[in-house]
Amino acid sequence: MDPFEDMLRRLREAFGSGRTQEAEFRATQLKGLGRFLEENKQLLQEALVQDLRKMVFESEVSEFSICQGEINLALKNLQAWMKDEEVTKNLATQLDSAFIRKEPFGLVLIITPWNYPVNLTLVPLVGALAAGNCVVLKPSEISGNTGKVLAEVLPRYLDQSCFAVVTGGPKEVQQLLEHKFDYIFFTGSSRVGKIIMAAATKHLTPVTLELGGKNPCYVHDDCDPQTVANRVAFFRYLNTGQTCVAPDYVLCSPEMQERLVPALQSAITRFYGDDPKSSPDLGRIINDKHFQRLQGLLGSGRVAIGGQSDSSDRYIAPTVLVDVQETEPVMQEEIFGPILPIVTVRSLDEAIDFINRREKPLALYAFSNSQQVVKEVLFRTSSGAFCGNDGFMYMTLSSLPFGGVGASGMGKYHGKFTFDTFSHHRACLLRYSGMEKVNSIRYPPYSPQKLRVLLMAMETHSSSCTLL
Ligand code: NAD
Repeated sequence: MDPFEDMLRRLREAFGSGRTQEAEFRATQLKGLGRFLEENKQLLQEALVQDLRKMVFESEVSEFSICQGEINLALKNLQAWMKDEEVTKNLATQLDSAFIRKEPFGLVLIITPWNYPVNLTLVPLVGALAAGNCVVLKPSEISGNTGKVLAEVLPRYLDQSCFAVVTGGPKEVQQLLEHKFDYIFFTGSSRVGKIIMAAATKHLTPVTLELGGKNPCYVHDDCDPQTVANRVAFFRYLNTGQTCVAPDYVLCSPEMQERLVPALQSAITRFYGDDPKSSPDLGRIINDKHFQRLQGLLGSGRVAIGGQSDSSDRYIAPTVLVDVQETEPVMQEEIFGPILPIVTVRSLDEAIDFINRREKPLALYAFSNSQQVVKEVLFRTSSGAFCGNDGFMYMTLSSLPFGGVGASGMGKYHGKFTFDTFSHHRACLLRYSGMEKVNSIRYPPYSPQKLRVLLMAMETHSSSCTLL
């Protein structure tokens, strides 16, 4: 017995009716999403506290405001984004109409993780709905309280014949993946990303994979250690370090390590007080499994700051590990918790070699007072995103695409990029039916003269077209 067959058939029928293609229908869905956020903010906030002990400040900044901004942007630009895009023509098509039409894919599946359970669910959803798709949403079972609000309340604000939420975990995802979807948008670990991609291959379904990895943070010797420490500590310990784009480890000289440690201590004390465990501004580890995993990483290098933990509360103190070796456990996997290892290197070249020896990260950070140094790191490395002299501030710009490269993922979203991700860009040429004589140059019998004229007529750049 397939639990999803009927639901998926209904959604396909709804897509087939053409309803979701109307601009007005899409706008109504986006407004519904906006109302869901507005009217249920308190409920969502309570769920985020239960799941992650996420405080109001961080929820507002990293969950609600980003979703609201994306909804507003999509509503404001929907007509423009949907519009056919006229393209350059050659002489042979001067009388024709050539354009790109943005078509919805059809029935899309969005699978999301637990760490920003509102943001990472609703932001892709905005683009999927704006692009006119029917959607199956599968929130993480691990952030179960937020997932429950999404499953029980969100559908009331959307057209339920075009939208469904599936709860559950790996088993349900695998059952869903037996079916053919027209697009799969997955955010999560690289391990599960491979499972999703393998399943999508069976149906030749296109995928976006928003994955994780280890994000290097290079700190040059010319930096003010306190400024770097404030910025790195903020972005490392936000959401208790459970952020895919958090700086995962610092690379710097032994001298800079010496200067950074007291500066990091000062930042941590200012942010979370002398006893971070009692700070209202520090969250908790999502579950026991991740708590145990993180505890195992505390043995790498030497603990310079923090290191305390309490399993009954799933608390891990903001921690800095120094003199960490490349071969130690903390450097073998994405940390995804409030632990910051420092690995020392002797030079900028060595740091760049270190970064390039590893998989391409989702994000890369470089701190230096010299723009030349920052640009050198940018130029000689590759990553999904890059920021000079700060953490993931680029996430506040929906004008920038967000996504990984290589092992950190494929595809991009945010702002118009999300709309484009969920749209098939259909190449359209509507030809003029008259002047058939002109077409005779392409028909046999072929001749060198016909070939010369045809090649000129097919040139896209009019400046090189000698017929004009
Ligand atoms: P995960 O890969 O374990 O789970 C993600 C989703 O996949 C969940 O909905 C889960 O139910 C489902 N899933 C889990 N195991 C599965 C299986 N065997 N078969 C099919 N489906 C399965 O990831 P997570 O632990 O929820 O999130 C943490 C990971 O996500 C980290 O690696 C982090 O870097 C990454 N992440 C990436 C981004 C990004 O934007 N690139 C954002 C947040 C998190």
